[in-house]
Amino acid sequence: MNPYLQKYITLKKQYIAQEGNPPSVSALYELVDELAKSDDLEAKKVLVDLYEQLGLYASAYDLFTKIITKPDRKQIKKLAHLAEMSQSHGDRFALPRPLRKEEKKQRTELSQSLPHFIYHPDPLSTGAFVEGEAKLCPSCGKESNIYYNLMPYCIDNIKNLCPFCIANGLAAKKFDAEFVQDAECQGELDPEKDQVLFLPDPWLL
Ligand SMILES: [Zn+2]
Repeated sequence: MNPYLQKYITLKKQYIAQEGNPPSVSALYELVDELAKSDDLEAKKVLVDLYEQLGLYASAYDLFTKIITKPDRKQIKKLAHLAEMSQSHGDRFALPRPLRKEEKKQRTELSQSLPHFIYHPDPLSTGAFVEGEAKLCPSCGKESNIYYNLMPYCIDNIKNLCPFCIANGLAAKKFDAEFVQDAECQGELDPEKDQVLFLPDPWLL
């Protein structure tokens, strides 16, 4: 057995035994980094399976189309499966990579710079806010690296609101928007908590 496959099997066993806890997921992602650097065909083959395991179907499909040579029935079947999953799922539902130590520290610092949302002490981890390149907040016109990641209720063209305009009610007032959302659009967020996150903090009014 090639060493890449051996390592993958070991880590996958560990992942299952530890019920997918963060260190076991981190270990799988570290193997992704390692395999992605390799030009060895055996490494790439293992990487396809690893991508699939992590739910990175678009990556798995993309790589598989590059390395497939003389497809036999088994490979054709696999290709068809990956093509289908790549279409329907892409990389969107992949197992999230746990934050590394340095990132964790940055995330904590970032969270502390946010206004306080009573029921959402960490709105970055729920995905209500995302971090990215600086964008203009349509409410206050200031640049922000953290912005609201969901759509305000009934309003679909307001994007990149900064956390402060949501916390102090400016965005709600300015756009006559309600930040109480239909639970369905939100994935895992709890609609009850949501109201508090998106309603202005009464202490700030
Ligand atoms: Zn703003």
